[in-house]
Amino acid sequence: MTLPASEASEEGRFTMVKCDKCGSTFEITPPDDVHDLASWSQEAFKESVKVEHKCPFCKSDVTVFWG
Ligand SMILES: [Zn+2]
Repeated sequence: MTLPASEASEEGRFTMVKCDKCGSTFEITPPDDVHDLASWSQEAFKESVKVEHKCPFCKSDVTVFWG
């Protein structure tokens, strides 16, 4: 699958996540400049920001921890 969004990687940081509910993959962006690594687990980072990203396909909330 080719995503035109790959061209944006030099400008803005983003991460692809997979929705648990429908299995679709979509792009999410960090909440700020400091927290730019994404994880499913809160334990992955000493300090993290929990963000609920909405799946654009099935509208489910996908929880991601940014650290
Ligand atoms: Zn979904």
